[in-house]
This record gives sequence, C-alpha cells and structure tokens, in this order.
Amino acid sequence: MPTVPHVINGQRRNAEGVSPIFNPATGAVTGEVPVPAAALIDEVVASSRTAWSSWRNSTLSQRTNILFAFRHLIVQHTDELAAIITAEHGKTIADAKGEIARGLENVEFACGLTDHLKGEFSSQVADGVDVHSVRESLGVVVAITPFNFPIMVPLWMAANALATGNVVILKPSERDPSVSVMVAELLREAGLPDGAFNVLHGDATTVNALLEHPGVDAISFVGSTPVARHVYQVGTANGKRVQALGGAKNHMVVLPDADLDIAADAAINAGFGSAGERCMAISVVVAVGDVADPLIAKITERLDRLTVGAGDDPASDFGPLITAAHRDRVTSYVTSAGADGITVVRDGATLRIGDGFFVGPCLLDGVRPGTKAYDDEIFGPVLGVARVASYDEAVSLVNANPYGNGTAIFTRDGNAARLYSRQVSVGMIGVNVPIPVPIAAYSFGGWKNSLFGHAHIYGPEGFAFYSRAKVITTRWPQPSESQIDLGFPATR
Ligand code: NAD
Repeated sequence: MPTVPHVINGQRRNAEGVSPIFNPATGAVTGEVPVPAAALIDEVVASSRTAWSSWRNSTLSQRTNILFAFRHLIVQHTDELAAIITAEHGKTIADAKGEIARGLENVEFACGLTDHLKGEFSSQVADGVDVHSVRESLGVVVAITPFNFPIMVPLWMAANALATGNVVILKPSERDPSVSVMVAELLREAGLPDGAFNVLHGDATTVNALLEHPGVDAISFVGSTPVARHVYQVGTANGKRVQALGGAKNHMVVLPDADLDIAADAAINAGFGSAGERCMAISVVVAVGDVADPLIAKITERLDRLTVGAGDDPASDFGPLITAAHRDRVTSYVTSAGADGITVVRDGATLRIGDGFFVGPCLLDGVRPGTKAYDDEIFGPVLGVARVASYDEAVSLVNANPYGNGTAIFTRDGNAARLYSRQVSVGMIGVNVPIPVPIAAYSFGGWKNSLFGHAHIYGPEGFAFYSRAKVITTRWPQPSESQIDLGFPATR
C-alpha cells in the first residue's frame, strides 16, 4: 500500500504508514499516512528555522515572483489537483475545482505583498524626530488543516504566511493528505527555497508535539471546535501566537416576503453541496411566520431531483462522506430526530452505493434547541427546518447558538436585512447569499465557538497575524545639541 511521503527541506521522505486513506466513493483503502517520530519533528523544525534565516531576508519582489509563478502552476495543474482531492475527499470534481479557485484567490492577494506590508511614517513628531513602523515575520508557522478543504485551507495559510516572510510546516488532515505533497512540489517548482514549506503528516500526536515545540512561533488551525479550543489553549500556554477556527451551525433565516424559489435553491445549494461537509454549509433554515410549509414543499421537490454518486461522475450533485465512521455518526442524527419528535421529511440514511460512505439527502422539520439534531454540528447532508413566529424570535435563536461562523437572511426588505446584519452575533453574513465566504481581500472568521484568538484568517487580518510590528523613532542630532536631560521624552 503506498504511503504518502512527508516533504521536508525540499525532499520527499518516505516513512511507514500508520493509518489508512480511503476512497470514500468505493470504501477501498488507497494509501496510508505516516506519523512522524519525535526525532523527525525536531528535524523539520530545525531545518525550517534554518530556512527562515534566509527567507525572512528575501526581497519583496523575490517573494512576489515566486507567488506569481506558483499561481500559474496551480492553474496549469488544476485538473490533476482536483482529481487527487476527489479521490481522497469524495467531493465532485466541479466542487474540487471551486475549492482550488477560492484558494488561488489567496495566492493572488498574497502577490500584492509589497502593498500589504507597507509601513507608516510620521515626520517631525517632536523637533527633529521622525517615527516609522515596519512589519516583520514571526518565524516558523505551523498550519494545521481539516479534511473538508484539503487545498483551499492550506492555501489560506501558506500563501499569506510565506508572503510575510515566514516559513511553514503544514500538518494536513490525515484523511486526505496527498494533495499537500503536490502543493509543496509546485511551490518548489515556482522557486521557493528548500525548507520554506514543509509537509509533516500525522494525527493528534503530531499536532500536540508541534504545539509544545520551542522552535515553533505561531499556529494557524482550522478544524472542529473541541480541537480548536485545545490547540488555542495549549499553543498560547506555550507562548505561541495562535488563531484557531472551529466548527459551525449556520442558520438561514427566511422572512415571509422572500422569494421562496430563490430561498429553496439556496437552501439546497448551501445545505447539500459537498455533502454538507462545509463549515459555511447551511444546516438550519429558520422559517419565519407562515413560510415553513410552502418552503419545505419547494425544498423537497428540489431534493428529490438530486443525484448522489461518486465525485468523478459528472452526473453526481454530491458525493460520499469522508469515512464510514462519519457516515454512521451523521445517520445517527436522523434516528435521534424521530425520537425527539422532529418530523423526518426525507431520510437518506439508508442509501447504499457499493461500499462507499454515502448518505442521501435528509430533511428534518421542527428542529429546536435541546435536540441533538439542532445542538450538534452534523457536518453531513442533513438540513433542519426550525419554525419561528417572528423576526425577533429568529434573531434570538441565532444569537443563542454557541457557534457564530456564518448566517444568511433571505428577504426583499433592505431594512430588515440591514437590521439583521447589525443584530446577529455572527462573523460572516449573507444577504440573499447563502455561503458568504469573504473574498481574499477581506478576512474570514466566525465569532463565539467558531474562532479562538482574535485574528480572522487570510486577507488583511492574515497579514497582521503573520507579522509583528516594530516602531522606529529616529533623530539625527547635531553636535551642538548635546545635553543631559533625565526627563521623560516629551513631544510638546
Ligand atoms: P478535526 O478537528 O477533526 O481535525 C482538524 C485537524 O486537527 C487535523 O489536521 C487533525 O489531524 C487534527 N486533530 C484532530 N484531532 C486532534 C486532537 N485531539 N488534538 C490535536 N489535533 C487533532 O476537523 P476535521 O474533521 O478534519 O474537519 C471538520 C471540522 O472543521 C468541522 O467542524 C468544520 O466546521 C471545521 N471547519 C472549520 C472551518 C472554519 O473556517 N471555521 C473551515 C473548515 C472546516
């Protein structure tokens, strides 16, 4: 069975595999992932620090040229990258290409590093004194990524961390690790010096060793909330700068004046795209007033037209879940829903296609706080409908939820949409847009249990996270100005 190699200091390093990689559409084991020994972790950190000593001094135009070349290589190799993603993640080829395109946006943003890294200058802050600021790199950044976006999330982190002069150790998800090896090789082909971008595989043991390693300066994490909280707590306790993005439960509020066809389309696209394995997936439709029955009818009619199948079959609307264990966990929510008095309008739990990890579309009517199907992040093709009487009840429901990643409102009333945007405690809001993932020039991040640490990821906040400021106060005194003065430096 092939074992996916680590990439350390520009070289593939083969190691014995420990856990299986599956093709989720067939259930077949297609490879294995190694877990590095402590000595290898020390080696990658040491070689990264050596690489940083020169990469931090690379010129801005050298970095820009490499990122431009990298962008070009990703575009050239999109088909190959998408095929690797689909084979290990299970999402459709079109969805894999969409992920690549959204990751690429971050490389393009990072290409503007000369502008993004500009400091500030203030002349004559006191007599003969000027002040300027610069931003410098942090050092070794560890990027820990989830299974559901095996290229986009690594690009969110790597493009911006490298642009700011850091070196990166990527610890990709052990479920779909192979595409990260190709990313490392494309960066090398683009001209990135050896050691500036490394791929170290493994699981929680690898992550925990890196969180405590004295040679690591910063951690970017994206994954589930319990692990995000752990990474934040252990990383910061070890003196590292940490941003840790967690899970989600995203609500889509549909007001009585909304176009219900548009709303039903959005609920299908955002609820079932990528089999619901997106942190910005809509998992609860909040039907306000009397829209629930006609909206459910329109959603059901669309659900029945969806095709579930292998990601490399162009006829498939969505593919399998990532593992058999995750499939069983997702279907358990449909079982518990019945016991909690929730109406199971569509039950895709029993769908079987060969030995793949498929679940068909599931629709639950009447989800509410206190039921497992509402309280937990399901991360599968299970859409819940919550019925509320009023706009105020919808806002209270959204704000009482412990997650705050994304939300959407569907309405024709601009004032209601504006009010909603101001009243909800959520980081990313869509107005008639169901998956409001910000473009790369803005930053991505949720509130509450969806983000630990203050910095949102990528965009301007990404550049700020991956760099630290120095402020330099300058005076060029003349010999005639020599004097002893023990007073605190005054500006007036
Ligand atoms: P996960 O938390 O299981 O794993 C994420 C990473 O953490 C992996 O690299 C994994 O090896 C590592 N890890 C797992 N358990 C660990 C532990 N106990 N200690 C240390 N490290 C550990 O997440 P996942 O299942 O791969 O991804 C799905 C989750 O990620 C969902 O909850 C989803 O909402 C979330 N997600 C969030 C965002 C966001 O931007 N907020 C984006 C994508 C995914």
